[in-house]
Amino acid sequence: MKMHDYYSKQLVDKNPPGSVFAAKTSACMVTAYKSGKVLFQGNDCEKEAGKWGGAARGGGAGSGDGRGSDGGRSVTVAGGTAKKPAAAKGKSAAKGDLPIGIGGMSAIGSDEVGTGDFFGPITVVAAYVKKEHIPLLKELGVRDSKDLGDEKIIAIAKVIKDVVPFSLLTLKNEKYNQVQQAGWSQGKMKAVLHNQAILNVLGKISPEKPEVILIDQFVQSSTYFQHLKNQKAIAKENVYFSTKAEGIHLAVAAASILARYAFIQYIDKLSETAGFKIPKGAGAQVDVAAAKLIVNKGRDVLPSFVKLHFANTDKALALVNKKRK
Ligand code: MG
Repeated sequence: MKMHDYYSKQLVDKNPPGSVFAAKTSACMVTAYKSGKVLFQGNDCEKEAGKWGGAARGGGAGSGDGRGSDGGRSVTVAGGTAKKPAAAKGKSAAKGDLPIGIGGMSAIGSDEVGTGDFFGPITVVAAYVKKEHIPLLKELGVRDSKDLGDEKIIAIAKVIKDVVPFSLLTLKNEKYNQVQQAGWSQGKMKAVLHNQAILNVLGKISPEKPEVILIDQFVQSSTYFQHLKNQKAIAKENVYFSTKAEGIHLAVAAASILARYAFIQYIDKLSETAGFKIPKGAGAQVDVAAAKLIVNKGRDVLPSFVKLHFANTDKALALVNKKRK
């Protein structure tokens, strides 16, 4: 359901009877029905309907021949025949709108792992997936990594790392803690890492260029570019943002899998150094593990293992103190 994905951020809670979804954009109410018909209602609905083209029914999509209701205008188009709007290229997505058919384009996707984990680094990967490679990646099992267990992630990553050009950046905790203490938000760290990984991939594939660059959204695009204002080079041409971008383009899914793979490997390495299995996440189990680490190796090793500003640090220290009493 391309259309559903496209409007995923503007969906309204209540669907009219017989409809699959309803969404409200700034200028238009969009209702998609099980029959495949889509109704566009509102003052500027021709423009919205025009994005989808296809076989027009009723008023004629995008023709300006809207049919009035409630004093507004409405246009009906048959679903499933989306075409790419002329305006899609060369525009950065300030409003979070994506080009139609983005899932089938040659794209650089980027995603990160580890931001919510007390132990381990932030890993960011940008990966380039040519449209010709999309069927192959599907066959290799690339999809939303949240649906995949570690074993599957490792197996897929091992194969695709030789198929897909990518850049992996690892922000180790020594450095993470330094920049965090210098006042960087995670948002800024991520923006800088995503931008750098994307530039690396653009360099790798040059002179070839992706049709789109899709970043799994973690801040508003304006904030993203604000974070980058002191960077020497900024990738901004055809850059788009979306939450749940793994489901929108396989390049983001591939990036996510590679980032997770790198994160898993790093956690394994930390486990080896620690001498016991390091847990992921930020729950009570990491407090216990960090306490054990402090008892075994001393407090000084913490900065290379954990994100110090997490509340888990104090909880771990409290556990150690309790034991010593
Ligand atoms: Mg993400």
